[in-house]
Amino acid sequence: MKDLSPAITELAKDFSGRLLVAADAGWDEARRVHNGLVDKHPAVIARCAGSADVARAIGFARAHALEIAVRGGGHNVGGRAAVDGGVMIDLSPMRHVFVDPSARTARVAGGTLWGHFNRETQAHGLATTGGVVSSTGVGGLTLGGGLGWLMPKYGMALDNLLSVEMVLADGRIVRAAETENADLFWAVRGGGGNFGVASSFEFRLHDVGPTVAGGLIAWPIERARDVLDHFRNLAASADDNLMLVAALITGPDASTRLCAIAAGHFGASAEGERAVAAIRALGPPAVDALGPIPYTQLNAMLDASYPRGARNHWKSRFVDQLDDVAIDAIVGAFMRCPSPMGQVVIEHFHGAAARVAPGHTAYALRNSGFNVLVLSQWQAAEQDAAGAAWARDSYGALAKCTGTRRYLNYLDNDDVDAKSLDAAYGSNLKRLQSIKARYDPENVFHLNVNIAPKA
Ligand SMILES: Cc1cc2nc3c(=O)[nH]c(=O)nc-3n(C[C@H](O)[C@H](O)[C@H](O)COP(=O)(O)OP(=O)(O)OC[C@H]3O[C@@H](n4cnc5c(N)ncnc54)[C@H](O)[C@@H]3O)c2cc1C
Repeated sequence: MKDLSPAITELAKDFSGRLLVAADAGWDEARRVHNGLVDKHPAVIARCAGSADVARAIGFARAHALEIAVRGGGHNVGGRAAVDGGVMIDLSPMRHVFVDPSARTARVAGGTLWGHFNRETQAHGLATTGGVVSSTGVGGLTLGGGLGWLMPKYGMALDNLLSVEMVLADGRIVRAAETENADLFWAVRGGGGNFGVASSFEFRLHDVGPTVAGGLIAWPIERARDVLDHFRNLAASADDNLMLVAALITGPDASTRLCAIAAGHFGASAEGERAVAAIRALGPPAVDALGPIPYTQLNAMLDASYPRGARNHWKSRFVDQLDDVAIDAIVGAFMRCPSPMGQVVIEHFHGAAARVAPGHTAYALRNSGFNVLVLSQWQAAEQDAAGAAWARDSYGALAKCTGTRRYLNYLDNDDVDAKSLDAAYGSNLKRLQSIKARYDPENVFHLNVNIAPKA
C-alpha cells in the first residue's frame, strides 16, 4: 500500500480535529463500532471537528483514491461506518445540541447520540422522535428513517427534520430544507448516507414529559402466544399517544425466557394510567416495570441489553398483520435461539408516521403494520456461525407472513441487493437514483445501503 504519511502530515496542517493512524494511542477503540463482528482497519481515521474538516477529509480521500466510510454513532449493524484501507470520517467529536426553546427547534451536530439529544431537549421539556437506545447516532438513524417512542404521535425522526447542512462529494457545504435544495432535502429523508455527510441537523421539537407512562412488563414464555395475541389487540385499538413494542427475550439470569411488552404513552396522565392498566390486564406477569417514568429513562431502559462489542446479525421485515401464522413463526424461531442475548422484537408502526404519503419523503414504508426484527446477538466468536444461522433461518421462517417491505436501517451486510432496495424504497427508488446522479455522480459515498447514480 502507498505510504500516506507525507499526505497525512500535510492534511493535518489545515485540520481542526485529529487524524489517527494505526500507531496512535486509542486506535483500536476508534476503529471499532457497536457490532463486535466488524473488525476493519482504515488507513486513517479523520476525527472531524466541523464541516470544514469533513470537506478536507473528503478531498483527501478522493485525491488518493481511497474509499470513504462515515461514522455517526457507529451503530449500523452492517458496519457501514468502517472501512478497510480507506478513510473513516468520524463525526464523534461533533456532538453538540443547541436548543431554541421559543422556536421549539434543536440544531445538533452530525455525530450526536440520542442520549445527549434527549438530555438537552428534555432540559426544556421538549423532545422529538429518536432511537430507543441512547447510544445510537442521530445521523444514521435519521437519514435512514428513525423508529422511536414518539413515532405514532409525531412521525419518524426524519419527519421532524427542518433542515440539514450537508458536505457534498465535491466538498461544497450546502443547506437543504423544504425551500432550499428541496430535491436533496427530499432524498436525505430516507436515502441514508448516499448524498453526502450531514454535518448538522435541525429538528422540530414537541412538549414531552418530563414524566410519561410506560416501561416494560413480561410474562413467562409459556404464555407467549397469549401475550402476542394481547399485543395485537392492544395495537388494534392504540391511538397516537401509545407506542407498543413486543419482544421475546431472556431475563437477566441468562436462562428464563420471557415475552415482554414495552410501552410509552405520551398523552394526559389519566389516559396513560388507563393504557398501562389495559396492558397489565393479561394477568400476573413475571416482571412488571410499567408506570410513571422519566422520558430520558424510557429511552435508556434497554441500553444494557445491547452492549457495545457484542456480536450482531440482524434480519427484519415488516409484516402487514400479526396473524396466527406470524405469531407461530415468531415464537417457534425464538425457541430455537442459541444465545440468551438473542431476541425477536416486534415494533408497532402506526399513527402519524403512517399518515405521511409514501412519496412525500424518500422513506416509503408508510403502511401501518409491524416491523419484525430477528436480533441475533452473542458474545463469543465461537458462536458466530450459530448466531448468523439462527438469524437467517428465523428470517426464512417469517417468509410465510404477508408483507415485503424492509427497513433499511436494520439491513445487515448480506442483505444489500436490488431486491432489498426495492423493498425499502419501492417507487421512490428511481427518483433517488437521479438525485444521486446529480449530487454524487461518481458514487463517492457508497459504503452504505447504496443507491447507484442513474440520470
Ligand atoms: C442497539 C441498537 C439500537 C437501535 N435502535 C434503533 C431505533 O430505536 N430506531 C431505529 O430506527 N433504528 C435503531 N437502530 C438502527 C439504527 O437506526 C442504524 O443502526 C443506524 O444506521 C445507526 O446510526 P449511527 O449513526 O449510529 O450509525 P453509523 O454506523 O455511524 O452509520 C450508519 C450509516 O449512516 C451513515 N451516517 C451516519 N451519520 C451520518 C451523517 N451525519 N451524515 C451522513 N451519513 C451518516 C453512515 O455512512 C453509514 O452508512 C438501532 C441499532 C442498534 C445497534
